[in-house]
Amino acid sequence: MAVQTVASTTHSVDLGPAAALSCRECGHRVPLGPVFACEECFGPLEIAYDFSGYDAEELRRRIEAGPASIWRYAPLLPVPADVAGKPNLNPGWTKLVKADNLARELGVTGGLYIKDDSGNPTHSFKDRVVAQALEAARAFGFTTLSCSSTGNLAGAVGAAAARAGFRSCVFIPHDLEQGKVVMAAIYGGELVGIEGNYDDVNRFCSELIGDPAGEGWGFVNVNLRPYYAEGSKTLAYEICEQLGWKLPDQIVVPIASGSQLTKIDKGLRELIELGLVEDRPYKIFGAQAEGCSPVSTAFKAGHDVVRPQKPNTIAKSLAIGNPADGPYVLDIARRTGGAVEDVTDEQVVDAIKLLARTEGVFAETAGGVTVGVTRKLIENGVLDPAKTTVVLNTGDGLKTLDAVAGTGLTATIRPTLDSFREAGLA
Ligand SMILES: *Cc1c(COP(=O)(O)O)cnc(C)c1O
Ligand SMILES: [Zn+2]
Repeated sequence: MAVQTVASTTHSVDLGPAAALSCRECGHRVPLGPVFACEECFGPLEIAYDFSGYDAEELRRRIEAGPASIWRYAPLLPVPADVAGKPNLNPGWTKLVKADNLARELGVTGGLYIKDDSGNPTHSFKDRVVAQALEAARAFGFTTLSCSSTGNLAGAVGAAAARAGFRSCVFIPHDLEQGKVVMAAIYGGELVGIEGNYDDVNRFCSELIGDPAGEGWGFVNVNLRPYYAEGSKTLAYEICEQLGWKLPDQIVVPIASGSQLTKIDKGLRELIELGLVEDRPYKIFGAQAEGCSPVSTAFKAGHDVVRPQKPNTIAKSLAIGNPADGPYVLDIARRTGGAVEDVTDEQVVDAIKLLARTEGVFAETAGGVTVGVTRKLIENGVLDPAKTTVVLNTGDGLKTLDAVAGTGLTATIRPTLDSFREAGLA
């Protein structure tokens, strides 16, 4: 394991309630630092908190009085208490859209909601996770912010670095959608296309971390991954608070590496343990595109291990063929009574159009995946239409225009009423 120590690790860093890093496999604990794998068993490290001393009523009041961003949940995140005053993009507190029209089309009677994360500063959920990694990068004295990205992360890192005064240099597969390339480059950092797919990009970044060339670099989703990952908990917090401090019965989450899904589950369990929501069962459903479906394939086959795939799908933001958190996703789907399902690219496009037509929400392909999977799970009798259901849209359709190419003019007419009538538009 490559360990990079920039700041002195002899003094303790202030990352709020974050107390240590703890191995998800063997429980081995190490002090907070830019490490991501257990030195005992190579399992993934995650943040262990000290939430002792929190009173549920007082915490709820403090959250409700907080800023309209993820920082209202600062007492539950690995960030210093004064985080909202530091230069960052203040992401989160996105809309929870009550989707009654879509519910009618899908036959959902128990209440259907879209958690619309296209409203974040760089138009995807990635701003939530990058904001945590940025605080860790500050705490550990890194000067360059970097990542391996399927597209959205590159833009989120570029923007966060620009605002916070870091250098940024990010790595993407060379064949990404134009919208994502522009979004990643516009903030003035360095953007490097790698000849290969995301898994090749990721492997390259791991090598760079172990090399002197990567010294002083914080890779938000590699050596800062334990901190980064915690940002996804804020989706769980917001959904429950926006439902009036209630757990949804069912939640449909897209899967790339699987990190978001596992941390949404962690966030929901924390709210239960802290007494902020009632302790009752919820089900988590994972969504993939058929062209990159290693987790749903394993789920349906009843396997505990996830066999890597070579991605081939229009849902490029989810195109991780070897998902690091795949086995944990399987555990969570099985433990909560959920499922993992996949849809074809054609069904993704249909679902993007369905959501836009019914609710006025233009989702990127990842949102087409979750809406498409929701429809399929209802049709198959797996998702209960009589229960409260939240479906995530994690990105903006303007970034994946190619997916809906061919959508355009109804007619072209001369500027006369006759022409208008001839076209059958009256
Ligand atoms: C990164 C991403 C996800 C989820 O990623 P995980 O690696 O599973 O956490 C979901 N949707 C979009 C649009 C993304 O960019
Ligand atoms: Zn371990």
